[in-house]
Amino acid sequence: MRIPELLIPAGDMEKMRYAFAFGADAVYLGIPRFSLRARENGFKDVAQVAEAVAYAHRLGRKVYVTANILSHNSKVPGFIRLVKDICSACKPDAWIMADPGLIMLMREHFPSEAIHISVQSNVINYASAKFWQNIGASRIILSREISIAEMKVIRDACPGLELESFVHGAVCIAYSGRCLISNYLTHRDSNQGVCTNSCRWQYKVAKTKHGDDYVPLKDEFYLEESERKGMLFPIEEDEHGAYLMNAKDLCAIRCLGELQAAGIGAFKVEGRSKTVYYIAMVTRAYRRAIDDLVKGQPFNEEHMSDIFATSARGFTEGFLHGDPGPGAVEYSNSNSAYSGYRFTGIVRGYDQIKKMLKVEPRNPIKCGQAYELCLPDRNVALEVKELFDDKGHSVSAIHGGLHFCYIPFPQDPGEFVLLREQILRSSSHTS
Ligand code: SF4
Repeated sequence: MRIPELLIPAGDMEKMRYAFAFGADAVYLGIPRFSLRARENGFKDVAQVAEAVAYAHRLGRKVYVTANILSHNSKVPGFIRLVKDICSACKPDAWIMADPGLIMLMREHFPSEAIHISVQSNVINYASAKFWQNIGASRIILSREISIAEMKVIRDACPGLELESFVHGAVCIAYSGRCLISNYLTHRDSNQGVCTNSCRWQYKVAKTKHGDDYVPLKDEFYLEESERKGMLFPIEEDEHGAYLMNAKDLCAIRCLGELQAAGIGAFKVEGRSKTVYYIAMVTRAYRRAIDDLVKGQPFNEEHMSDIFATSARGFTEGFLHGDPGPGAVEYSNSNSAYSGYRFTGIVRGYDQIKKMLKVEPRNPIKCGQAYELCLPDRNVALEVKELFDDKGHSVSAIHGGLHFCYIPFPQDPGEFVLLREQILRSSSHTS
C-alpha cells in the first residue's frame, strides 16, 4: 500500500524546518510574484528557494514550488526567467500551477519539470483531470468543492494520475480563485496573492449616518431577488454585526481513511501565513493519523487535541460528504476562536552549564504560571518558577517583544521545541 503524502505549507524557512521536524513528507512554498502569497511570505528570492530545496532533499523530503497565479500579460516573460533561474539553482520536486498559458510555456521550455495542477484550476470532474493529464500534469490538486464519491470517479477514470486533496485549513466562500470580493472592497486582487480575506469581515446593515452610533437591525430582514418572489434569505445580526460569508475551517482528519480508499495519494494542509506553532501542531496531528492509518488502526480521537490547540473559525468537513449547508459558515465570530492554548515562544537553545532554556518569546511569560513544551513526539509540562531577561536579571514576567529570556529546565529538550500556555477554550468545535 502506498503511504499517503503529508503536504504542509512553508511560509518561511523556519516553518519549513518545523514542518519536517513534526512529520511532513513534503512542503509547498513560493516566491511572492508568482504564488498566491504576495505578503507574509518568507521566500523572497531564488537563493532562498534553493536553500529550502537543498534542506528538504538532505532529509529525503520534497519541495513543491507554487506558481499558481492567473497571470496578466506583464508577468508572463518574468515567469520564464524565474523558472530558468530556479531550475539553474536547484531541482524542485514539482511546480504547482493554475494558468493554462503558463503551463503551456512550462511544457515548451522546461518539459522535464513535474507539474501539479493547483486547486485554483477548480478540477471537479474526470474530463478536466484527463485534460490536464494529457497536457502532461503528473498530479491534480482536486477542488475543495467535490465529495469523496466524486474523487473516486476521477480516480477510476484517470489511472496513473496522482490525486491530492486539501484536508485542513481555511477555505474560501467562493471556488478557489474565483472571487473578487477583495478586489471590490479593497482593490487587492485575490488572484494575484493579495486577498484581504474580506469574506470574513464583520458586516453591519444598520440605519445610521456617518458619525452616528451604530444602530443594529431590530426587526427581521430578508433579501429577495426581484424575479424570485417569496425566496427569502434572512439577514441576521446582533449588536456586533454579522459574518455572512465566514466559512469554517476544513478539518478532514477523521476522513483520511475514506480519502485514501478513494485513491487520494497526498493530503494537503492550507496556511502559509499561519504561525510556526500552528504548523507544528497540525502537522503532528495529521502525521499521527496517517501513521495509524498505515498500520490499519482506526482514527484516534486523541489526535484532535493538537487540532483543538490551534486557532480556528470552527471546523467543517466541507463538501467531502456532499453539500455542507449553512453549518459550514461561522455566522457569529471570526478569527482565532476555539484555541485552548496561546503560542508563547520558540526555544532557541539550551545552556548546559546553567541548565536553562533560551526562549524567544512571542507572548508574555510569567513566573508561577504553567506552560508546556511541544516537541515533535510529545508535550512536556513546564512550571516557570524563575525567569531571567536577556541580560540575565531575575524578573517576574517578560513581555512578548523581548529578544530572549531564560527559563530553568533540567535537561536539553532538543532542537525543535515550542512553548505554549493553556488558556480558556470555547466549547464548540465542529459543525
Ligand atoms: S475574499 Fe474570501 S472567498 Fe474571496 S478569495 Fe479571499 S478568502 Fe477567498
